[in-house]
Amino acid sequence: MQNKVKVEARNIAMSYGKTQVLRDINLVIEPGEFFALLGPSGSGKSTLLRLIAGFNQAQSGQLLIGGEDISRVPPWQRNVGMVFQNYALWPHMTVWQNIAFGLEERKLARETVRQKVAAALELVGLGDLGARRPSQLSGGQQQRVALARTIAIEPKVLLLDEPLSNLDAKLRIHMRDELRTLQRKLGITTIFVTHDQEEAMTTADRIAVMDQGIIQQIGTPMGLFDNPANQFVANFVGTINLLPGTIREVSREMVSLMSPTLGDIRLPRLPHVPKAGDVEIGFRPHAITLCVADSARDHEHVWLQGTVSGYEFLGEFVRYRIRVGESDIIADQPHHAGNTPFMPSSPVNIGIQPGEMRFISR
Ligand code: ADP
Repeated sequence: MQNKVKVEARNIAMSYGKTQVLRDINLVIEPGEFFALLGPSGSGKSTLLRLIAGFNQAQSGQLLIGGEDISRVPPWQRNVGMVFQNYALWPHMTVWQNIAFGLEERKLARETVRQKVAAALELVGLGDLGARRPSQLSGGQQQRVALARTIAIEPKVLLLDEPLSNLDAKLRIHMRDELRTLQRKLGITTIFVTHDQEEAMTTADRIAVMDQGIIQQIGTPMGLFDNPANQFVANFVGTINLLPGTIREVSREMVSLMSPTLGDIRLPRLPHVPKAGDVEIGFRPHAITLCVADSARDHEHVWLQGTVSGYEFLGEFVRYRIRVGESDIIADQPHHAGNTPFMPSSPVNIGIQPGEMRFISR
């Protein structure tokens, strides 16, 4: 549709009064990328998004769009479109007028406005609802109008602030597919803010995980899940078991480590192993095989013994909580029709796949 642009943040820092909200933010968002800012409430995601839009001013650092420093460019000259969490539609205007508004402000010819509004409405599948007022639309339709209004002005960068949070659970899943399809079709560089890791994982090409105004890690959804850089990311992106341990020796093939829960173990070497020292040994609940306590133990797994303290049936799988010494371990077991679960108080053998273990520096 148009030239795709790169968005870059260099060493950005921002405070509200004495409170530092963004610290040394460095980001390169590739042209046409669908990029998520993910983090808990208060981590600085919206502040960063508003900074890109031009509503906030950083104390230091640079912001580049398409290679051009726009740090001092006012919002209306940045060619950036933002969809707000509450949609911010004009209630007294029709859908058509809402979309036309920004185009008329740009003093476009009446016929051009007509064509652009019609095209935007068509794009979001609301071709025949132009005469309605926002109050006569469902939440999902209002969301589409807000998108159409932003897309109509053909911004170089699309910014979405928690775009799906006002929709109910089912519609949210439908709209995230739609958003993704629309973004692919337009190819416009898109940055969206969410606190919902599933939403970020299912829609974004890449994610920046934020906490306390700091980017903790940037990666693809699978990259973050498989190789979290620190404990925060490991816990925020999916569920993980973390057990304290100490790496004693790393050779070309093996890692030898000591852990109060796992004992002394030697594992085949994995990528991203810290050299030595205290670590958290991380493994996901699905990397575990549970067996009855007196079953034979193979050599493929690292084995532990524990006692089931509870379980939740989640349809496709059963999530167990298992007491091992002083630790609780979460284990997911696939469910098949007719399976009976391990009951609370049952002793079990816990087999962990060594290839799924990660070592995270403390
Ligand atoms: P998120 O979008 O991740 O929930 P925000 O960017 O909204 O986080 O906020 C980050 C931090 O900045 C929070 O601690 C918040 O209280 C603070 N903050 C946000 N806006 C303002 C403001 N206008 N004045 C003072 N502090 C603010």
